[in-house]
Amino acid sequence: MKEDEVARQQRERMVKEQLSARDVTDERVLQAMLAVPRHLFVPRDVQHLAYADAPLPIGEKQTISQPYIVALMTQLLELKGDEKVLEVGTGSGYQAAILAHLARQVYTLERIPKLAQQARKVLRKLALQNVEVIEGDGSQGLPEHAPFDAIVVTAAAPRVPEPLKQQLAEGGRLVLPVGSRVGQILERWVRKGEDYEVERIAPVAFVPLVGTHGWKPDDAPASWWM
Ligand code: SAH
Repeated sequence: MKEDEVARQQRERMVKEQLSARDVTDERVLQAMLAVPRHLFVPRDVQHLAYADAPLPIGEKQTISQPYIVALMTQLLELKGDEKVLEVGTGSGYQAAILAHLARQVYTLERIPKLAQQARKVLRKLALQNVEVIEGDGSQGLPEHAPFDAIVVTAAAPRVPEPLKQQLAEGGRLVLPVGSRVGQILERWVRKGEDYEVERIAPVAFVPLVGTHGWKPDDAPASWWM
């Protein structure tokens, strides 16, 4: 069997056993998770684990989230196809690729240039035209492209960054982990005028959001997965 056929089968199994079997029901999200070759986004030495029910190291002390967490966060954004989306924390670029399948335009911000460059390379290889990787502090958002219909932060924030709340469109959804450097609660904020509806979804563990509205670099632990 060809390598990409094997990967396709692994993805079918991942979708069935890790996503549908839990609470991922959005058919478009399941299709995107089936379509995106996750193994291309992880380093060679962990490629055999690309479809496992776990986060994986991607270098620079950062991680790619467990597939279920990517799917859950994406589902919470309620994308229909015509949205402008901001992701904070490009990492491998995997979450951005999923978003690119589900929205009109995706901007993704990464503070570590090496990861941004690597993510750009994979996204280019997959010919995804509607996603732009930008280097910078995503805790400040991306005012030049605001407002966003959906914002997802894939790094742990001590509190919800004010600029991200401000850059959310009316009715827009902001999904992010909020808490300490070692454990957080996944939250969804929905904008209603100048107010926000807040839902607390599930306990999670993300690497820290480092920036003006996040943690200071010195505060960051070496890594939680080693
Ligand atoms: N979404 C990624 C995983 C993210 S890991 C994926 O699909 O692979 C968290 C990422 O957030 C790391 O790459 C880290 O460097 C980045 N990050 C942390 N603080 C940031 C900030 N203030 N702005 C942009 N990126 C940040």
